[in-house]
Amino acid sequence: MPAVLVPDRLTRHVAAGHPWLYADAVPALVGARTGEFVTLLGQGRRPIGSALFDADSPIALRVLSTARDEQPGPALWRRRLEVAWRLRQATLDLGDTDAFRLLHGEGDRLPGVVVDMYAGCAVLKLDTPAWLPHLEELTAAIVDVVRPRSIWFKGMSGQRGGGAEAPPVQRPRLLHGDEPAPRIAVREYGMRLHVDVRRGQKTGLFLDQRDNRRLVRQVARGREALNLFSYNGGFSVAAALGGASRVTSVDLARAAVEDARDNFALNGLDPAGHAFVAADAIDDLARRDEAGERFDLVVVDPPSFAPNQKSLRAAQTAYAKLNAQALRVVRAGGLFASASCSSHVSTDMFLQTLREASRTARRPLRLLEVRGEPPDHPTPLHFPEGRYLKFVLCVAE
Ligand code: SAH
Repeated sequence: MPAVLVPDRLTRHVAAGHPWLYADAVPALVGARTGEFVTLLGQGRRPIGSALFDADSPIALRVLSTARDEQPGPALWRRRLEVAWRLRQATLDLGDTDAFRLLHGEGDRLPGVVVDMYAGCAVLKLDTPAWLPHLEELTAAIVDVVRPRSIWFKGMSGQRGGGAEAPPVQRPRLLHGDEPAPRIAVREYGMRLHVDVRRGQKTGLFLDQRDNRRLVRQVARGREALNLFSYNGGFSVAAALGGASRVTSVDLARAAVEDARDNFALNGLDPAGHAFVAADAIDDLARRDEAGERFDLVVVDPPSFAPNQKSLRAAQTAYAKLNAQALRVVRAGGLFASASCSSHVSTDMFLQTLREASRTARRPLRLLEVRGEPPDHPTPLHFPEGRYLKFVLCVAE
């Protein structure tokens, strides 16, 4: 196994559970290939762990283990999956929820690997081509541990193209078992949702908002609700099941809006009593404000506005503007739920953004809940950048 000397100042972070070493922080690994295992060396060239190498990513090394007796390979993948599966069994109510994240990469100590479960269908997604040489082993480990009906490979997030050395583009494909149904009906706290693992965004659902959808369900009774960036209507169905009098769902993706309508019907809710709008949420919001439309519950869950550190300032301005605009359509005493899924925006920064929005809109807010990811999205405490989701529920004056 090739070896690399980890600088002293980083060894304690590795020992504490930080899963990454950046290319510019470690000596170059001459001759090592993407997907190879690398021994991490500490002071006196003593082995302190092992990592997976990616020659083309700024994240050169993903830490696989820091235990003396753990070697990277099939037995370790299996052990990591077993531990992850036991943690899900302990922390989720799998009796009324069968859509959950079985393996959350860094948080489950298989950095760069995500496995989501949808009613027995596993969906595997990779953050790095470094896992491609180990794909068969990962598949075998998933089969051993959870016996899924199928394993669907969703491909790689942010696939890089070009270059003679570039890995072949990974087409989504079946890795094991039966072809997944075009629409898999899953349950989330008893609510039903259709999941299309082939066409859907992410692996099919935004599983990280599960507990926040339940919160919205709990507070929706009798309210007229507006759900902006609604995707397939998770928050919308939750609000309607919670007794919202009418729910308006807005998303730019036409297919997602159609899915939202279908998900109402799937839950025995008549879509005719609700509104489904395929439009840019920001334009739509401005139109509603001008027309004097007002709501008792507004949910705002946009895509990440800050894909990197450089775009952070622009993103904060955009979040503040969107939230101020959304606040204008909340009735006095109405509820306002706002989310951000950018890892570059901390909870404090997001609360500051909401303060700014509240000032601009002249709508004082009182904080009811500040939340993040659910327990099937664990994060090493020593890896704060892994916490990305903010969900804030307020009451507007
Ligand atoms: N709240 C959803 C997840 C939202 S993800 C849930 O709980 O499942 C963000 C959504 O924003 C995506 O569905 C995407 O299609 C949509 N989107 C992106 N840009 C948009 C825009 N400008 N206007 C409206 N929707 C947009």
